[in-house]
Amino acid sequence: MIQFNNITASYDGVYTAVEDVSFTVENPAIVGILGPNGAGKSTFIKAALKLIKSSGETTSDGRPLKEWQKEIAYVEQKSAIDHTFPITVREVVSLGLYPHKKIFQKINSSDWEKVDHALGLVKMEEFAHRQIGELSGGQFQRVLIARSLVQNANFIFLDEPFVGIDATSEDIIMNILHQLKHTGKTIFIVHHDLSKVEKYFDEVVIMNKYLIAKGKTKDVFVEKNLVQAFGDSIFVRRSGIDVQ
Ligand code: ADP
Ligand code: MG
Repeated sequence: MIQFNNITASYDGVYTAVEDVSFTVENPAIVGILGPNGAGKSTFIKAALKLIKSSGETTSDGRPLKEWQKEIAYVEQKSAIDHTFPITVREVVSLGLYPHKKIFQKINSSDWEKVDHALGLVKMEEFAHRQIGELSGGQFQRVLIARSLVQNANFIFLDEPFVGIDATSEDIIMNILHQLKHTGKTIFIVHHDLSKVEKYFDEVVIMNKYLIAKGKTKDVFVEKNLVQAFGDSIFVRRSGIDVQ
């Protein structure tokens, strides 16, 4: 069980972007984190993982974050990543090995096999020696997923992984995430395309600075909670729920 306790984060010590967010998730699960732009979704993840200054704590089976940090893979929101950095696809994926290596320990041939296997799973093996700058957004996102696979993380946090990517990449990624869940992993996905929520997530967290609701998708992904998070710009269609 992963437990987020009173996660609070402020920028410049003044503006509070996330306030007192607490919830628990039973493993394994695929959890969607939903809320409008600026709701603090990205801040929440960074605060919960102590990547920024924050208060509160995140525990796994009662263990403090320090003790299970190596079991976490985090893929930040795409815009924050430098695509021009001269590094190949294979090298990016190999970075997932480092949480398990000592400083300066070399990557050996069985490690490279793991890297190539992960690239195969995300259907990117033929791109192994390309520079990351040559990839489409969807291909790049698949490479980042392969890096999490190599890391063999138990907890994967993905911040808006599907923004601006092609449908094929999105399907490949979602299939892999479902397989990972079946091997016992827990995956958190910040997501804003409400049309796919019911298909993708077992559970959802709806937030806007504060936690609005958390629970099984069918119980929590309802108009009342969405209006509270997104305001009146939301409307419900027969085909699903959409944001104007
Ligand atoms: P979301 O991911 O839900 O769109 P964010 O967590 O990115 O929201 O942002 C939450 C709020 O915090 C927004 O008002 C945003 O402008 C602000 N914010 C985000 N990052 C910073 C930062 N580095 N410095 C100051 N304010 C920030
Ligand atoms: Mg964000």
